Amino acid sequence: MNKLIFASHNSHKAKEINAIFQGLLTVVSLEEIGFFEEIIESGFTLSENAEIKAKAVYAATQFDCFADDTGLLVEALNGAPGVHTARYAGPEKNAAQNNAKLIHALQTADNRKARFETVIHLIWKGESHQFIGVLEGTIGFEPVGTEGFGYDPIFIPLGSDRTLAQMSLPEKNAISHRARAFQQMLDFFKK
Ligand code: IMP
Repeated sequence: MNKLIFASHNSHKAKEINAIFQGLLTVVSLEEIGFFEEIIESGFTLSENAEIKAKAVYAATQFDCFADDTGLLVEALNGAPGVHTARYAGPEKNAAQNNAKLIHALQTADNRKARFETVIHLIWKGESHQFIGVLEGTIGFEPVGTEGFGYDPIFIPLGSDRTLAQMSLPEKNAISHRARAFQQMLDFFKK
């Protein structure tokens, strides 16, 4: 079976992705190949950051690989927190603090539209391919729900009256930005 390196230090994510690609590809995390260097995400967009990560790993290993980058883009904040989504309220990457900061930033905003975006940069047979998954929604006025992680308690997908944190994992996976981006990559390999 073809091996593909996932340019991420998150081996939990690698496992999840392996479940998606079952039988088609084996996804290997950086830990599994002994790559412990930190890759600095210095890009100004999610797309640039995904490309930086994939290209750094490809340059070091010459193996086909992919990287993903996800962000929350809020319309009234001109696309912030964007590439700063994980560390919006500080380097601790604390989800409750991130949510509180965003609710505060939108206190007087009429427009609460936001979207999650996942960008995947794949290097396959030495060539670059990009896949983007988007989930449109709005930011709630207070955190609701206990499922999921990150901004899930304050993100209400378009057409829903519940936050992502009120949805089961299968429900979230049926609509999520990440699932949509990975589905595109799956379609690419099925072709
Ligand atoms: P990453 O690029 O997947 O590490 O995501 C960056 C940050 O975006 C995370 O630290 C979370 O704060 C946020 N995030 C990514 N995906 C989700 C999601 O599905 N729900 C809520 N927050 C998310």
